[in-house]
Amino acid sequence: MQPIKTVGVVGAGSMGQGIAQACAMAGYTILLGDINSDILQRAIQNISKNFDQAIAKGKSTEEKKADALSKIKLCSPENLKADLIIEAVVEKLELKQKIFSDLEKINEAETILATNTSSLSVSKIGNDLKRPERFLGLHFFNPAQLMKLVEVIAGEKTNEKLMPEMVNFIRSLEKTPVVVKDSPGFIVNRVARHYYLESLKLLEENVADIGTIDALTKSAGFKLGPFELMDLIGNDVNLEVSRQMYEAFGNVKRFKPSAIQEEKVAAGKLGKKTGKGYYDYEKK
Ligand code: NAD
Repeated sequence: MQPIKTVGVVGAGSMGQGIAQACAMAGYTILLGDINSDILQRAIQNISKNFDQAIAKGKSTEEKKADALSKIKLCSPENLKADLIIEAVVEKLELKQKIFSDLEKINEAETILATNTSSLSVSKIGNDLKRPERFLGLHFFNPAQLMKLVEVIAGEKTNEKLMPEMVNFIRSLEKTPVVVKDSPGFIVNRVARHYYLESLKLLEENVADIGTIDALTKSAGFKLGPFELMDLIGNDVNLEVSRQMYEAFGNVKRFKPSAIQEEKVAAGKLGKKTGKGYYDYEKK
């Protein structure tokens, strides 16, 4: 297997930008692609801001910032040619399948393709590719430049030799790879689904308000309250993951998306990325 030097990231939203930053910090050359050129520009601004915050806390330096930024090249998805390409576009099966099929056409046979899906079946995304043995799931957590855990998932047709290679790649980012089975929501999202959905039920039933639920769960030891976390993830992304998992588990009630999630998305209140969600970030 050839060494990974260039990492392509397709989708430069919340996750793509964090993944690009994490890989650039580890010394890889990054090609970051998105259909939206404004989002690409914003991604660079956000990565730059992430470094400024880390520098202010004494956790990074101006040299490291300049070095990482110099490694990130922006491009259109049609030009993404790399040794490893990580996909972080919206959570839609057909879109992800199409993107990988297009990427296969322009990349070398050795290129490794990985999805950052939260809830879709890795096998379903990859099985119909020409080279499904070079395809797997690499599930990063938000914010990807900081969070250490990465779930590493083989699809039905993934070459088993690829797994240790990808585990080592994740270690090279100074992150913690955990190999998990291809099951809806893998481990963390399946467990965390109830953190969100049960908290939304408390809200629907007027048991407590958002601030109280967040404050109590945090005082019980969670780093972020469920509503703060949903705003960080993006309410559109969180709703889509809820829908996918509900469907994957045969519409069992415990995975049913909440009407409150639907309302937030319909109102464009997607969370931190749009300035409004369960909280108003424009006022802060
Ligand atoms: P996002 O909405 O912030 O970003 C998605 C990006 O994909 C957008 O910039 C959009 O322009 C781009 N895009 C859409 N169609 C495209 C195409 N055809 N080609 C190239 N780019 C395209 O979403 P996100 O939160 O970054 O989530 C991306 C993926 O990561 C999803 O599969 C999601 O389930 C997963 N994920 C999200 C989180 C989270 O907390 N948000 C955590 C782990 C995994």
